[in-house]
Order: sequence, then C-alpha cells, then structure tokens
Amino acid sequence: LIDSAIAAKSNMTATNIPQAPSITTRDFVFDYLIVGAGFSGSAIAERLANDGKTVLIVDKRNHIGGNAYDCYDEHGVLIHKYGPHIFHTNSREVFEYLSRFTQWRAYEHRVLASVDGQLVPIPINLDTINKLYGMNLTSFQAAEFFNSIGEPREYIRTSEDVVVSKVGRELYEKFFRGYTRKQWGLDPSELDKSVIARIPTRTNRDDRYFTDIYQAMPRHGFTRMFENMLAHPNIKVMLNTDYREIVKAIPCREMVYTGPVDEFFDFRYGKLPYRSLDFKHETHHTSVFQPAPVINYPNEHLYTRVTEFKYLTGQEHHKTSIVYEFPQESGDPYYPVPRPENQEIYKQYKALADTTAGVYFVGRLATYKYYNMDQCVAQALAVYKQIALKA
Ligand code: FAD
Ligand code: UDP
Repeated sequence: LIDSAIAAKSNMTATNIPQAPSITTRDFVFDYLIVGAGFSGSAIAERLANDGKTVLIVDKRNHIGGNAYDCYDEHGVLIHKYGPHIFHTNSREVFEYLSRFTQWRAYEHRVLASVDGQLVPIPINLDTINKLYGMNLTSFQAAEFFNSIGEPREYIRTSEDVVVSKVGRELYEKFFRGYTRKQWGLDPSELDKSVIARIPTRTNRDDRYFTDIYQAMPRHGFTRMFENMLAHPNIKVMLNTDYREIVKAIPCREMVYTGPVDEFFDFRYGKLPYRSLDFKHETHHTSVFQPAPVINYPNEHLYTRVTEFKYLTGQEHHKTSIVYEFPQESGDPYYPVPRPENQEIYKQYKALADTTAGVYFVGRLATYKYYNMDQCVAQALAVYKQIALKA
C-alpha cells in the first residue's frame, strides 16, 4: 500500500496533488440536505442527484420510505408497518415517474363497512342501500331515494354538510359520524368538508374505493421502489439520525425539509395538531382472515378498520397478516387535521417558511396537507422544477 502510494505521489506535480475535500477548501460537503426519506424527500433527492447534485438524505427512523415503508414480518408476510398504503393517481406524470423505479401489479381496492350486523360496500353504492334496507332499487330509483333523504344545505362547509346534504342523517350516522369521531377525535361538523368529501356516494354498483385512472401496487413493494430511487451514486442515506444532530457538522448548500413544519420552527406559533395512530399487527395461521382487503368499523370497537395485507400485495402465503388502526391524540404525526383554526396556525408557519432562505418545505407534514402519496410526488416534482430553474 505504502509503495503504491509513493509511486502515485511520485507521478504528481505540486499542482495536481489531490486535496481531501474539506469545509475549508469547499464551502459545502453536499449540495442538498434532505430531511425525511418518504415519498416527498426521496423524489426530490432522486431528481437532484440525477442533475449531478450531491445529496445527503437523513431520516430519524431506521428505514427509508416514510409512512409508505413495507417489510416482511417474522412470518414472511409482506406488511405495511404504518397502515395500508394503496397507490392510485390520475397523474400520468407521477405514474410514469414512479414507473422508472418499479414494475406494477394491477390492484383495485375494495372496502366493506360493518353496519347493522352486515358487511356492505363503502363508498355507499346501489348495493349498499339495497342490502341495508332489503330493497331492490335501480340506479335511477337510488338517485331519487338519495334526493328524497338528503337534507339540502345552503353552504357545504363541514364534513357533516357534505354527507347529510347528499344522503341524509340516517346514513350519515350509520357510516360516517362514528368513524370520523374515532379517527379524528372530532365531530364531522368540526372538520373541513374536504375530509369526508374523499368518499363519494354512488348510484351504480361500482364498489371500488378509488376511481383513478392508474391503480396499482409496486410489484416488489414500496421499500424496494424507494431503494431504487435512492440508489444513485450522488445520494448518501443516513438513518437513525435527526437532522438537527448533523446539520451543523455537515454543511449543505440548501435544505429540503419534509418533517412537521411546526417542529422545524420550535413550535413558535404553538403546536399544529397532527392525528396519530397505534397499529396492532397480527398474524393468523390461516390463508384468509376476512372477506375483503379492508373492513371499516364505523360504530363498533376502538379501532377504525382492519386490513389484510395479502389482498393488497398479491402475496401467496399459508399464513396471513392483518393490522388494526387505533386513532390517537398523540404519537407519531400521521394526519394533518383539516379545520379552519388549524389552517390559521399553519398560515403563520407558511409565512415563516416562505421567508426562510435556503429551505424548501415539501410533503404532507411540512405543508400541512392531507395529501395522498401521488400528491406528495406531484408536489415534490414541482418543487424540484423550481429548484432546477433557480440553479
Ligand atoms: P412521510 O412519509 O411522513 O415522511 C417524512 C419522513 O421525515 C419520516 O420518515 C420521518 O421519520 C422523517 N422526519 C421527520 N422529522 C425528521 C427529523 N427531524 N429528522 C430526520 N427525519 C425526520 N396515501 C395514498 O396515496 N394511499 C393510501 O392508501 C394511503 N394510506 C395511508 C394510510 C395511513 C394510515 C397513513 C398515515 C397515510 C396514508 N397515505 C396514503 C398517505 C401517505 O402515507 C402520505 O401521503 C405519504 O407517505 C407522505 O410522504 P411524505 O414524504 O410527505 O411524508
Ligand atoms: N370515513 C368515514 N367512514 C368510512 C370511511 C371514511 O366516516 O367508512 C371518513 C373519515 O372521516 C375518514 C375520511 O372519511 O377519516 C377519509 O377516509 P379515507 O379512507 O380516505 O381515510 P385514510 O385512508 O386517509 O385514513
């Protein structure tokens, strides 16, 4: 080793002796520090690295993928550690972008709700009301039925308004009120209309949860897809690390932050509420546990829903793993809580974020938006384009 080092050195002139990069000879160790290795952080990291930028992506968890992380449990069943994640989008750009990192398995999600001792399709459709009320309506009659029970409202402001105006109070109580109170710790009348507006009402027999153009699951799981996104030689991944531990020691030119925005600013304007969940994972020694990928429990139990992962992943296995979701007031932040008073607090943080030079705030936690995965990718690609235009 010493010989070859001397030989290498003897071939060098004084001017071409390589210098170890150091903070004194180079202002920054990395071009970008990216906080959070979920969809938002990983998409931006990949795009910037592809442009030749050097990127350090840190996550305080011990894995990449953020809340979309999946892994094999001790029985060898592929599970989603942080609850069921189903990919769906109407954006061709997002689908094509992610298709560079994964193959897909076609999957259309279906959910049943446990109501009045029966399992019926949710979103509410023709079969839901026929089964629930022992009727045999046609689509046309179902539309008339909903019109007759809906309570007209001048303004649709809250999540209660959305449902009660469309399908009336009884179906609202059966399917939405209890679920929402459990999930959010708030009555639907206290939540923005956008929350329950995620769930449509149908007069046909379509029982799919989503109607997006692209509906598919990464063939080898989300984590494998993230590994492929972050495999670029310009990207270094640092896990088990809060960015605050290294931000001073490893100077970077700019930062992309995807954690909770209030935490970034040390809760200067108070805490922004984020709803949390406890996940109870179980494995059963049977190949099928329940008759649908997800069963929602609006009115029973402390949990909101039960997911059986093999439906989502397509995995064949003689055992099966499920997860129960128990909503929590505190814990890891999973959901921003859309309601006017929270929006007011967020506005203050947003104003601060907009004037914080050199830091971009991206994703569900940092922009306090109830975004699905595809919306996070779309936002990340848009922010990347802004960064690239500036550079
Ligand atoms: P995250 O995935 O939350 O990533 C942020 C990362 O930042 C985390 O890994 C965190 O550890 C890290 N971090 C935070 N602070 C720091 C710090 N100080 N230092 C270092 N690292 C830090 N979307 C869908 O499209 N379909 C679904 O079916 C679906 N189901 C969902 C089910 C549940 C139960 C939940 C909670 C969400 C679901 N979503 C779904 C939404 C989806 O999870 C999000 O849209 C997406 O994962 C958000 O990505 P993100 O990168 O913005 O944030
Ligand atoms: N919701 C409900 N009953 C249901 C399903 C959903 O009341 O059976 C309401 C509830 O407020 C929930 C929201 O609609 O939080 C959005 O549901 P979604 O399934 O999109 O929630 P996520 O998958 O994001 O947890």
